[in-house]
Amino acid sequence: MRCCLRRMSGLLGRNNKVNQLAFSSQCWGAKTAEVHGDGVKTSFPTPSVPGITMSNSFKLDKPASFSITEQEKDNHVYTRWSNPTVRNLETKLAFLESGEDCIAYASGMAATAGLLLSRLSNGDHLIMSDINYAGTAELVRHTLPRFGIDVSLCDTSNLNEVKDCITPRTKLIWIETPCNPTLRLTDISAISEICKDNGCELAVDSTFATPVAQKPINFGADFVVHSLTKYIGGHGDSVGGAIVGRSAEAIQQIKSDSLVHQGGILSPFNAFLISRGAITLSLRMAQHEKNAKKVAQFLESHPLVTRVNYPGLQSHEQHELAKRQMNNFGGMLSFTTVKGTTARLSEKMMKELSLIHYAVSLGHSKSLLFMIETDAILNSTFGPGMSVKQIQDFKQFAGEEGIFRMSVGLEEADDIIRDLDQVLKN
Ligand SMILES: *Cc1c(COP(=O)(O)O)cnc(C)c1O
Repeated sequence: MRCCLRRMSGLLGRNNKVNQLAFSSQCWGAKTAEVHGDGVKTSFPTPSVPGITMSNSFKLDKPASFSITEQEKDNHVYTRWSNPTVRNLETKLAFLESGEDCIAYASGMAATAGLLLSRLSNGDHLIMSDINYAGTAELVRHTLPRFGIDVSLCDTSNLNEVKDCITPRTKLIWIETPCNPTLRLTDISAISEICKDNGCELAVDSTFATPVAQKPINFGADFVVHSLTKYIGGHGDSVGGAIVGRSAEAIQQIKSDSLVHQGGILSPFNAFLISRGAITLSLRMAQHEKNAKKVAQFLESHPLVTRVNYPGLQSHEQHELAKRQMNNFGGMLSFTTVKGTTARLSEKMMKELSLIHYAVSLGHSKSLLFMIETDAILNSTFGPGMSVKQIQDFKQFAGEEGIFRMSVGLEEADDIIRDLDQVLKN
């Protein structure tokens, strides 16, 4: 049965002349209409928000190489190589981080693994912050050694310790600042000087900070890594990651190595959500910071709280560095409570918090709180390689029993504080 699309054009709105014209020149069968009915060329009116291009393949107007590594940069051929919606997000992120180019990934971990596995080879040495995101810590401890890559975990806030870890084979230094979950900072420009002196590259996981708070490339970093799942997406509804590079050439190499061949691409739908979320990044970060400062001050004065880690507090050991390096102290904080209360309080929070969600993740519009047991971190994430000094240092920030990590959301600060106050009881 043939279905003349002309009759359907009324559904598209009377003033949509372009659509009416396009439809009136076609008269397709129903199956053809199912397949091509959305293929109307609407060059006018130009939408003020770019649409989502979910297409996984693109019609070619010139020959393209079948070898995926030789495909041209901005000639969209196949979505694993490039996609207009994903490219829009990459362009935005490169701009926000003052980099030359960016690659988006399916998750922050895909970006992390992509960078490490394409910049490092058998025989290379990596220096990695001894406190960092659990997935990153496990990846470098469990996976990289299988490929002949040596890893030294060191306190990157201590420049002498970093210098002592350097070997002639050191290829990359990876820092996370502020780091998860202790909010310890690392001086990006000081580490970048060490890198320059020793001919190695610097990668910064800047997820906690966002480009609103710090732009590592301006401090000398070669790569910035983000979990877009967190503040940049910002609404808790998508997972994604990205690497921004100081040099477009390095990004191109990582792209063919790790994105095209390992395949961890970001879906165009998530790219659209994340790009939309990023529209309000500065506005949200201002509110996250405002709320986090108030919550940190409340916690600092609470009798059951023994320590608060927040770079914006005077009491943070590296507050001066925070002021020098960060334009916004962020929405992340962590705290410990009086000995003997940690497990009970976390259980109470699970049951009794009414506004704050007892949940992992961060950078959400909603406040999220989660207790991480110190032994669990030491055994699983940091593993047996930690020295006695590293364990002591860690416990100084995270306590003996566990650390509460909080992502302070966009609600009214007074409401967040009231919710905390009603559970922080003996
Ligand atoms: C969440 C997170 C990651 C991993 O990102 P995913 O998107 O969950 O894969 C890496 N680094 C930091 C600091 C994170 O918070």
